Amino acid sequence: MRCDLRNPNEPIAPGSSQFVSAASLRERLDWFNKLRWGAAVGVLVVVLIAGVGLKAPIEVRGLLLTGVMLLLLNTVYVLRGRRFKAVDIAIELRLVKVQMVCDLVALTVLLNLSGGVENPLLFLYVIHVIIASLLFKGREIFQIAWLAIFLFTAEVFGEYFGLLPHHHLPTAGEVAHELSFILMTLGSFWLVILFCAYVGARIMTHNRAIKDELVVHQGVLLAEDRAKTDFFRFVTHEIKSPVNTAQSGVETALELGGETMAPSVRDVLDRAVSRLKQATKIVQDLADLTRGGILKEENLTEVDFNDLVATTVDNQRDLAARSRLELNVLLPDPPVLLTTIRTMAETIVANLVNNAIRYSREGGRVSVRLVDTGKRARLVVEDEGIGIEENEQDLIFDEFYRSTAAREASNLGTGLGLPIVRKFVEELGGTIEVESRAGHGSTFTVALPRKSRKRRS
Ligand code: ADP
Repeated sequence: MRCDLRNPNEPIAPGSSQFVSAASLRERLDWFNKLRWGAAVGVLVVVLIAGVGLKAPIEVRGLLLTGVMLLLLNTVYVLRGRRFKAVDIAIELRLVKVQMVCDLVALTVLLNLSGGVENPLLFLYVIHVIIASLLFKGREIFQIAWLAIFLFTAEVFGEYFGLLPHHHLPTAGEVAHELSFILMTLGSFWLVILFCAYVGARIMTHNRAIKDELVVHQGVLLAEDRAKTDFFRFVTHEIKSPVNTAQSGVETALELGGETMAPSVRDVLDRAVSRLKQATKIVQDLADLTRGGILKEENLTEVDFNDLVATTVDNQRDLAARSRLELNVLLPDPPVLLTTIRTMAETIVANLVNNAIRYSREGGRVSVRLVDTGKRARLVVEDEGIGIEENEQDLIFDEFYRSTAAREASNLGTGLGLPIVRKFVEELGGTIEVESRAGHGSTFTVALPRKSRKRRS
């Protein structure tokens, strides 16, 4: 089972039903440029094969020239994209429109050189209308549709009335020169183009409305989530000192008068200390869970991850020894170096190893492996313990969730360790996966990037 680590706190930008930014529009333009490379190269290859190779009677020079023009124009668009950063959305939108107009003109020239109304490729105009509906809103989609209609109709009548040269396609019959055929073809062309523009505009308006609604809902959810986190933070802060005071009070009482106390009183106080320790752990875990904004460039340091894993595992050897567990560590050579937040990496490793030990059976084996995969460091913590039922594997990353088997095995545990691990892994830009079979053991795999980066919001 793989854990989805999309940052739930990352807001969808308001108004993202249009373009979020000039930069994201630029990304779409890049995709558009790739299409254009394909189209231009396609024209050149087809013309070379048909006109030069097979000697078909087509307008080779004109067609090649238009294909080359398209390649040159696209080179200019690509170079401009690389050279200038996209900052102004209005400029980027204008640029898209200019590119679309040039493309429509180029398509019209290509059609004129290859039979005009006789050429079935006339429906390539539809592609532009579809792309326009992905990029623009209602009125602008129809502007592109009407431009396509205008250009093609002018081209067809231009040829018919002898204002433009006509290059007859060898595959087309003489019927293609009759007015009735021309009018029928133009009629269907108008219908298809306008229908596509209408459907495209409707679908995109509907999608954008849904997206707007989602953005509003996400805003509400984020606000609620922030309120919950603030509440936890407040409670954690307020509760920390009374719990610590109570714990040290009871411990001092035991130290000073433990020997003279009746066994039943001592037993009550011992249990009180144990429960207070658990409360302290919960408070500490909650503090970790609600801590935010730790991943700042200045907090990143270079960490020898081999060393960190070895030390963290060593700190838990006593606990493992108490259950007579074999605790193996396998580290790569040379050591993996990470640019990360040391305390967060330590917490991740410590929690996973601690769980593997606590949920193992006496005499079992826990193995910790670190693998260098180039861009990432992969930590695998494997045990032969109680395992996790399949239907509970989604839930163990939720706050306070403890599986039935875990509750039966031990009443110590806060259900906050894995949510903290997941939060930290997520903040460091990594992934976490769990594989487990109830009664047979579990394997937790964490992949951390060599260099953690602050996520873009
Ligand atoms: P806890 O304090 O209960 O261990 P965690 O958040 O660390 O809280 O873990 C949540 C739950 O996930 C545990 O209660 C247990 O049910 C399950 N779990 C975590 N690690 C293991 C493991 N290695 N083997 C079996 N179950 C595990």
